Amino acid sequence: MPSGRFAPSPTGDLHLGNLRTAMIAWLFARSDGADFGLRFEDLDSATVRPEFYESQAGDLAALGLDWDEPIIRQSDRLPVYHAVVDQLLADDAAYPCYCSRREIREATQAPNGPWSPGRYPQTCRNLTLAQRSERERAGRPPAFRLRTDEPTITFDDLLAGPSEGVVDDLVIQRNDGTPAYNLVVVIDDVASDIEVVVRADDLLSSTPRQIEVARVLGLPPPRYAHVPLVLAPSGDRLAKRDGAVTLADRALLGETPAQVRSYLGSTLGLCNAGEPADMHQLLERFDPARLPREPLTLAAQQLGS
Ligand code: GLU
Repeated sequence: MPSGRFAPSPTGDLHLGNLRTAMIAWLFARSDGADFGLRFEDLDSATVRPEFYESQAGDLAALGLDWDEPIIRQSDRLPVYHAVVDQLLADDAAYPCYCSRREIREATQAPNGPWSPGRYPQTCRNLTLAQRSERERAGRPPAFRLRTDEPTITFDDLLAGPSEGVVDDLVIQRNDGTPAYNLVVVIDDVASDIEVVVRADDLLSSTPRQIEVARVLGLPPPRYAHVPLVLAPSGDRLAKRDGAVTLADRALLGETPAQVRSYLGSTLGLCNAGEPADMHQLLERFDPARLPREPLTLAAQQLGS
């Protein structure tokens, strides 16, 4: 059955913004009678901390979310991702890139140069085999990039509306051998039959790349619903330093998970703040068309600071 999912990275406790997005993802899926899955995006070993698998799942359960087993960990699926990368390389749909970040930055900063900052200047796109061997001999481990025709991808986001972006030759595997987020997210969402990807809208600009990855792989892309962010009083995206932002922090202020759920539900127009309402009651009132389309800015007072 087509599903929904929440895909946190176990790098810290979930904050109010993450919890609110998780609630919306659950509501989207369950209002469609769909499955709902939890997937840990844990490929970046430099930032993953093992204690957060359990604490993140525990916080979601404390809010009243449930999910279908098994919980997926991307770190268990490396052979799947590597097989896809190998196939793309064999098909010449991807190529090795030996550039350092600095070289890319310098090439895109050249005055009057053809490349705008942030774009990959295609340095390694058409290297000959001899040039590749030369770089290999210099001991540079390559990243791998998808060969694209720089398409402009448009899509209709269920919350953000019509959106578009240009896709350049994105990285599909980093030069430390780690498959890249924009590749694995597509492989996993299709493998789990995800119908609507619900996530925070800081990932809206990555979506055209993911749609292009799906196209190259011959996979059907899901639909997308990007949720406006929860912001700190400063207007920046919410972070731990902003005060009482996690369930553990809220507990120290004497607030229960049910009270946090009620508050978050009220920001979605599904209940009044303080009104006891479990996830199933919120589900009965859920209407995606009525979700807020603007970021939610918290007041300093709400964060206990
Ligand atoms: N792992 C990402 C995050 O924690 C979410 C990625 C996604 O939902 O596609 O922000």
